[in-house]
Amino acid sequence: MAQVEKRPAVVPAPLEWEYAPAPEARDIVEIRERYGLFVGGEEVEARTGERLTSVSPSSEEELFEFALAGAEDVDLAVSAARSAFEDGWSAIAPAERAKYLFRIARILQERSREFAVAESLDGGKPIRESRDVDLPLAAAHFFYYAGWADKLEYAFPNRAPKPLGVAAQIIPWNFPLLMLAWKIAPALACGNTVVLKPAETTPLTALLFTDVCRQAELPPGVVNIVTGDGTTGGHLVRSEGIDKVAFTGSTEVGKLIMRELAGRDVRLTLELGGKAANIVFDDAALDQAVEGIVNGIYFNQGHVCCAGSRLLVQESIYEPLIQKLKRRLSTLRVGDPLDKNTDLGAINSREQLERIEALVASGEEEGAEIFQPECTLPERGYWFRPTLFTNVAQSYRIAQEEIFGPVLSTLTFRTPEEAVEKANNTPYGLSAGVWTEKGSRILWMAERLRAGVVWANTFNRFDPASPFGGYKESGFGREGGRHGLAAYVRFE
Ligand code: NAP
Ligand code: MG
Repeated sequence: MAQVEKRPAVVPAPLEWEYAPAPEARDIVEIRERYGLFVGGEEVEARTGERLTSVSPSSEEELFEFALAGAEDVDLAVSAARSAFEDGWSAIAPAERAKYLFRIARILQERSREFAVAESLDGGKPIRESRDVDLPLAAAHFFYYAGWADKLEYAFPNRAPKPLGVAAQIIPWNFPLLMLAWKIAPALACGNTVVLKPAETTPLTALLFTDVCRQAELPPGVVNIVTGDGTTGGHLVRSEGIDKVAFTGSTEVGKLIMRELAGRDVRLTLELGGKAANIVFDDAALDQAVEGIVNGIYFNQGHVCCAGSRLLVQESIYEPLIQKLKRRLSTLRVGDPLDKNTDLGAINSREQLERIEALVASGEEEGAEIFQPECTLPERGYWFRPTLFTNVAQSYRIAQEEIFGPVLSTLTFRTPEEAVEKANNTPYGLSAGVWTEKGSRILWMAERLRAGVVWANTFNRFDPASPFGGYKESGFGREGGRHGLAAYVRFE
């Protein structure tokens, strides 16, 4: 009988693997020095004559200049949208409208690498996310709503849906192209025309999208893009010619818009902030939960309205879970957004970085314990280490306010009832996560959590067929799915 070779008594330490840089090519996207507004199918200069500059948050390099639209510019864009609506877009055969949306979806797929690089350069998010999440989902939204364009009677049986007219759409900087797709695709599918205002720090992909509209031969004026800052958004909301406002951004500005529209015949949907609870029960698969927690709060540097920013852990598994989480945080790679190995990119702007720093400082002052893994941050640009707070009380600002950064606050609970009560103890209600082996407990929790979306044993999953939206101060109205159509139709 052959003798079995004896194993060495000492197991060698695992090799420390180093990552080689894996940068995505930047030259796939051509960025011009300067961009105008997109009105009536043409690029025009702003009447204000004023311009703003977009910087890359990972290098602070100035990327390009873009126009600051004033009241007159916004009114011209709204008139162009009105003409396009009346001159044909609302009346063409729905199956024809669908063809344009399909074309846009196809072009986005074909140009997805270029758009992904543009998104990462202008906004700071890792290429891995813009390439694998933002771009495929943006294209999927256009595909999905293309499919509905000629089936609206089936979405609303016996109710003869009609388009609203001109939709004013204001989007934030955290998912620039994806939010554009969420807004434009359902509006166009229902026969509306749009004027869209991207955020001041991330207008690039919306500006490149004007080229997609031309390539798709979309009739002039169906999509208009007005760049600028918050004042441009204000002009758009006040413009006389609009029939609807769709807004995604802060609760503060959402309230301003609602006040502005009171008494006017303008429809409104608001998608605002959140402070989601990610709840882990003691029977959950812990390693999977750790991955879900990390994805829930560190995805997109935590610039996510539905981020799982409050971790609620059942007391009996608190120690091992926090140990695993800390170990996992130490493996996250922070740095160049264009490197394919990067997990956390740059914070979107200096302003946002300062807001995060102030809230984190308040957490330390109030008595929470902070953990940040060792990592070297690039010298230039806006960066923040992935951060974990333990020993957090419900009253602390870091447990109450939306940080919108890579910062997780941990609380504990003993019973499911206590978990529900703590999870719902927030002015927001956008999303929640539940980690448990028991299906019955998932349903029990989902019934009681006051959140628009409840993920079970996963987090931050999106699909164009699934509606998304909030309760309470997270806003109202739904985007995505058949529900998303309702925001863009009226019934006679
Ligand atoms: P924000 O001010 O609400 O910005 C959202 C959009 O509204 C941007 O296009 C912005 O333009 C525009 N805007 C600003 N003031 C306006 C006004 N008075 N009337 C009409 N439009 C206006 O959000 P932010 O300052 O970028 O971020 C602040 C906080 O909002 C974050 O820390 C986070 O808590 C929350 N937030 C939530 C979401 C979300 O997805 N729910 C997204 C982003 C931010 P400019 O960007 O050009 O100023
Ligand atoms: Mg920028």
